Amino acid sequence: MNPDFGIPTAAARGLALCHSCSRVAPRKLRHCPRCRATLHLRKPNSLARTWALMISAALLYLPANLLPVLDVESSVKGTQKSTIISGVIQFWEDGDYPVAIIIFTASILIPILKVIALVYLCIAARSGSRPERNTRLYRLTEFIGRWSMVDVFVVAILVGVVQLGAVMSIRPGAGALAFAGVVILTMLAAMSFDPRLIWDAAGKRNEP
Ligand SMILES: [Zn+2]
Repeated sequence: MNPDFGIPTAAARGLALCHSCSRVAPRKLRHCPRCRATLHLRKPNSLARTWALMISAALLYLPANLLPVLDVESSVKGTQKSTIISGVIQFWEDGDYPVAIIIFTASILIPILKVIALVYLCIAARSGSRPERNTRLYRLTEFIGRWSMVDVFVVAILVGVVQLGAVMSIRPGAGALAFAGVVILTMLAAMSFDPRLIWDAAGKRNEP
């Protein structure tokens, strides 16, 4: 079946959507008649950019999990450095199961699932198989991704609130910076991916 239900696409008629103001204009004008932005039929080098951002995110994922995200200094216990996983274990052992589950999901599970989903989409955008399902997967990836920022906020809030000076102080560790990098890079990777490529490939597949 034709994935576009026989309706020609704007791209097939030489029309491009302006990436900054969303006006539809003939591609041959090269620049948007309304806001002067450069017109592209598809996001330029979408797949290459997505791959590059995802590989960078995957590399930063290691220090994000191996380095401490929090340095807790208290006069009673001395300096404690906690990584994401040691934090999860600590909360779990203290019986704070919901907190442990939220941190584990937001910080460990979601970034991995997001990278796997984007790798799969980049491959699917070439083959053009099952476009409806893959577009839904893309929407889900974009929707879930923003929630992994929760952890960065938790660190920021803890650092801001728990400044009891002589008694206790909390500082963000190097792992927090790496983790923020992972979150930002996966967000940019999802933004660089052009879901229309899935349908372009599906259309080519259906050509006689
Ligand atoms: Zn424009």
